[in-house]
Amino acid sequence: MRFSAIIVAAGQGARAPGIIPKQYRQLGVRPVLAWSVEACRQAGADQILVLIHPAHVELCRAAIGDLLGVRWLPGGASRTASVRAGLAAVGSTDAIVIHDAARPGLSPDIVSDVLAALETADAAAPALPVTDSLRRTTGEEVTRDGVLRVQTPQAFRAEIIRAAYAAAAEDAVFTDDLSVVQRVGARIKLIDGDIRLMKLTYPEDFDMAERLLVGARDVCVGAGYDAHRFGPGDHVTLCGVRIAHDKGLIGHSDADAGWHALVDAILGALGEGDIGAHFPPSDPQWKAASSETFLRHAAALIMQAGARLTHVDVTLVCERPKIGPHREAMRAATARVLGLPLSRVSVKATTTERMGFTGREEGLAAQATATVER
Ligand code: MG
Repeated sequence: MRFSAIIVAAGQGARAPGIIPKQYRQLGVRPVLAWSVEACRQAGADQILVLIHPAHVELCRAAIGDLLGVRWLPGGASRTASVRAGLAAVGSTDAIVIHDAARPGLSPDIVSDVLAALETADAAAPALPVTDSLRRTTGEEVTRDGVLRVQTPQAFRAEIIRAAYAAAAEDAVFTDDLSVVQRVGARIKLIDGDIRLMKLTYPEDFDMAERLLVGARDVCVGAGYDAHRFGPGDHVTLCGVRIAHDKGLIGHSDADAGWHALVDAILGALGEGDIGAHFPPSDPQWKAASSETFLRHAAALIMQAGARLTHVDVTLVCERPKIGPHREAMRAATARVLGLPLSRVSVKATTTERMGFTGREEGLAAQATATVER
């Protein structure tokens, strides 16, 4: 069945105030509106029309401007008026799917399901039972028996929705489009709704929606590696912990390979180059610097990027000194500098079975990963 999609995004979002209207706010990897557009594209829509507020052209362009096959046009003063404008602009098609941009949890499967329901109906929509008890503001209890919460997307046979809008008064306002077609006697079928189709209404809804949308979180993992050569000395510093040893580590700073690898992992997750670019070895101010300075700098970059560090894992590679007795102190020091709970900080050690430069105790190496949510 050929179908076109109309996405209603013309609201000003007065109930979820913010600098950016809710349909253009970032939700996980893409703006709210782009989630619905992408789902309609994946479901195979011939045309996708987005009805926007005339003042939001630039926001819309930034959100979905580079998506092929998507057009946007000015909506009306009400949701009903916006749908009417969309219907006027949509070309020849068998079915029309109408969806609210404020419900970013749309999936291609749900679009297919409402369209499939048109085999035996003129209109279809997802609906969920009401599970809370209901009461009027005046106090009387309202029975929830037989009451359903109707969501979007709502699918219609094209000729039915066109006829229903043509029959309705030009300035009429309806809550949704099922109400419009019901007035011309359309056969309506309700299918199982989906909690992920929740409508973003209040500011706190964004957090919940982000958690509900599978894959919505933009997770980046950075990897880092470092090695330092042993030289004369009486201690090494690894992951911020000073350990007495019969050698020292040579380096322009304190040669803490563990934290250096970790700094590179964080910079990697942020796409911010490497430790050498931020703290050039040629710059005398970093000579004998504590690597805590570098790690604090990396943590500050995470904050500046509006990102959140969720986990780090460091592996130290050496025959000696033995890391085991200092492992917990290293975790604690790393957790303290990065502001992470201990459970999100891992420090491990291994040897290379006496092979290679670490096996010959010419030096030691470290590798690390940092996981960042953006
Ligand atoms: Mg280093």
